[in-house]
Amino acid sequence: MIVVMKSDATAAEIAAVISKAEQMGASTHPIYGADHTVIALVGDMTRVERSVFDAMAGVLKTVRIQEPYKLAGRTSHPHQTVIDVGGVKIGGQDVVVMAGPCSVESREQILEVAHMVKEAGATVLRGGAFKPRTSPYSFQGLGEKGLQYLAEAREQTGLPIITEVMREEQVQMVAEYADILQIGARNMQNYGLLQAVGKVQKPVMLKRGISGEIKELLMCAEYILSNGNYNVMLCERGIRTYETATRNTFDLNAIPVLHRASHLPVVADPSHGTGDWELIPDMSKAAVAAGADALIVEVHQNPDNALSDGDQSLKPERFAQLMADLRRVAAAVDRSIATLPTERETSVNGRVAALA
Ligand code: PEP
Ligand code: MN
Repeated sequence: MIVVMKSDATAAEIAAVISKAEQMGASTHPIYGADHTVIALVGDMTRVERSVFDAMAGVLKTVRIQEPYKLAGRTSHPHQTVIDVGGVKIGGQDVVVMAGPCSVESREQILEVAHMVKEAGATVLRGGAFKPRTSPYSFQGLGEKGLQYLAEAREQTGLPIITEVMREEQVQMVAEYADILQIGARNMQNYGLLQAVGKVQKPVMLKRGISGEIKELLMCAEYILSNGNYNVMLCERGIRTYETATRNTFDLNAIPVLHRASHLPVVADPSHGTGDWELIPDMSKAAVAAGADALIVEVHQNPDNALSDGDQSLKPERFAQLMADLRRVAAAVDRSIATLPTERETSVNGRVAALA
């Protein structure tokens, strides 16, 4: 249920609604909008009576939320969520391009490719330090060393970094280095991990599970949101179907379907979506045309020798060409490709500001 407060409701009236809902056993999630404050009530609703709130001072109306994803859905939060990552805004007018290698392989490798993707116009650097590999004998990532190299790449370039966290006990450590925590496809339904990232105040990119329905992806986002972290973005990265021509089937439908259902920013990952570098430019352009708020693309300076996902990694020159093409596609759908904010635009305490 949501309680919509009148536009002139006082802080005391809002606090009274919150306290009443909590007394009745619900958890409360206030959303402070430009016009109205809306309080979403979730959790155990058995003792919550709508009429009690309708009668309270400052309340405009109460509305039942039909969809099961109460915080991720648009009913409780009609306006688009925009996530600010050190001045890079994800979910707004500009399309953010995140790029970098599948894995951080060495200090030299990540520093070099970080400069290359920045040069081409990426505004977030990706790189895995903890890698979920199909085989336990494949390269598993450099662990904390990899995170340190990523942090050094951020210092040199000013690019915020996104990296995967695989286990609950790693959340604190990864959150100390990363600007965005990535939850991988294999962990979409790792509820303990989702709760743990819900308790830190770092943006999270939640990837759709290999056989995850869109409804399940939204319910998984709900685990993060209901723990208090509202900075969640959803990532379409391809699903397993009967088709074997590509590694996965990139579900372009998911982009507008997620936008219709949810206010959370939508990221498209054409690298894992296709598994084939030759298909990445076309699917990246299609994703931007379909309304993606961000792309995450694997780029490697020497894909033939990459320790993971070389087949689906663009060489830096091809990535630079793609960026030029994306600018035109974005313009055709009345958007722009995001650029790195200048020092003046970033918050005083933002990391990018300190480094710019
Ligand atoms: C990755 O981003 O490198 C990755 C492992 O992605 P996914 O979880 O989508 O397979
Ligand atoms: Mn990968």
